[in-house]
Amino acid sequence: MTEHVLTVAGVAVDTRHWIGGERVASAETFTDVSPIDGSILGEISRGTAMEAAAAVAAAKAAFPAWAATPRAERARILHAVADGVEKRLEELAVVETTDNGALLRSHRRGVMPRVAHNFRFFADWLLKLEHEDFETRGHTNHVSWDPAGPSVLITPWNAPLMLATWKVAPALAAGNTVVLKPAEWTPLTASLLADIAAEAGLPAGVLNVVQGYGSEIGDALTSHPDVRRISFTGSVPTAQRIAASAAVNLTPLSLELGGKSPLLVFADADLDLAVDLAVEQYDNAGQVCLAATRFLVEESVAEEFTRRFVEKAGQLTQGDPRDEATDIGPNIHPLQLEKIDGFVRRAIAAGARAVIGGHRKDGQYYAPTLLTDVAQDSEIVQEEVFGPVLTLQTFTTEDEAVHLANDTRFGLAATLATGDPERAERVTGQLVAGTVWTNCFFVRDLQAPFGGSRHSGVGREGGTWSFDFYCDVKNTVTAPNGWRNHG
Ligand code: NAD
Repeated sequence: MTEHVLTVAGVAVDTRHWIGGERVASAETFTDVSPIDGSILGEISRGTAMEAAAAVAAAKAAFPAWAATPRAERARILHAVADGVEKRLEELAVVETTDNGALLRSHRRGVMPRVAHNFRFFADWLLKLEHEDFETRGHTNHVSWDPAGPSVLITPWNAPLMLATWKVAPALAAGNTVVLKPAEWTPLTASLLADIAAEAGLPAGVLNVVQGYGSEIGDALTSHPDVRRISFTGSVPTAQRIAASAAVNLTPLSLELGGKSPLLVFADADLDLAVDLAVEQYDNAGQVCLAATRFLVEESVAEEFTRRFVEKAGQLTQGDPRDEATDIGPNIHPLQLEKIDGFVRRAIAAGARAVIGGHRKDGQYYAPTLLTDVAQDSEIVQEEVFGPVLTLQTFTTEDEAVHLANDTRFGLAATLATGDPERAERVTGQLVAGTVWTNCFFVRDLQAPFGGSRHSGVGREGGTWSFDFYCDVKNTVTAPNGWRNHG
């Protein structure tokens, strides 16, 4: 063990950057704190423009060889990374929970297996990626996906390794090299991923990890002329900053941003199902971009829906996320808690009523909250809280429901509960959202397009859409034998 290696929940985690296949320390550090109990986990290398430049240089140097590596070999290495993730699944799960406070049982059973699947899926998709050739006046058109170059991937804290690998896996599969910048509140599992990738045989410089505050290291990454792609998941203000910075080089961007998604409950819905879907919105202490945080309920069933929701939400257990029985853990940071509470205080001052919750609890926990009597144009209905705070409004007609659902600046997802398939088809056709779920929630297939409309994002990733983004898609036209161009 060196001074640069922490032991977190029994797992050794290197606190330095990973650049060009080597651990690199910065002169300065930042402190990583666990949201579970506020304990200090350790000091993490705090990147500057210097480390950003070194990481991009390493990615640039490694690019030609990785891009030229046959698809089958790239796929083999990505499967080896997935094997490494599976081998260290328990370690990744406990470190992630300690670092970001999300449920250990979810990390064990859902999230970390999904991390491995990210690598397997994009490795396999690469091998079958093709577009049928087509003819134009006897000429053959052939479409290929050429690796684009070094890619900067910037990720948030709410699902750190899941969201990072959802970008890292397709970028590497595409033949690009990567500089990953994890969120400063949750840097640890990205460091473990660097170890796993190296053990799996990923060549030096193909994956680089730099840590630090976005405000200090971000511009140096996103305005770098050698960077060919930027994929970002995070908040709208940061995305706007990144888009401005990337504009200097016209670097293509994929932006996965916030949401204020609706759950529409029609009177013809199975109310028990609707309530189950509604209570799910407290998952990850409400820190889920896709969460349906605005309940829009048909007036005739609103009272009954609310009664059953309150009963079901009352059965949720809040506490230590390492405890198998816990349903809701802490929020990520004291600043986030303050932000959540500020939203609720202002909503109540503006006339909202807390049906449940509406206040902090001890430690870094916020009571699961449902607010009614909220106006459509109010802050609590229009802005993303990113905590366990939901609102309920009623409607009387389908048109009104659609209008309320679409009436924010976001368009990430929408969920509806209805027993009428014709209504489902009519309504989904009118909703502005990247993903719509009917009578279900959070069913996500990696081959499906994923992204948001309006301020919820730019572009789509998933399946072939990921390769379209991370590659330079090329069309090669070949003339038939003996053909002469006579103008
Ligand atoms: P954030 O925008 O504050 O930070 C995200 C990342 O950007 C961090 O790594 C941060 O260090 C970095 N960053 C900050 N300033 C930067 C700059 N100037 N240049 C480059 N990078 C910079 O977001 P957050 O608070 O970490 O995450 C929460 C947000 O993410 C919410 O809005 C949530 O909805 C959104 N989110 C979206 C999705 C999605 O798929 N659409 C998924 C998860 C989270």
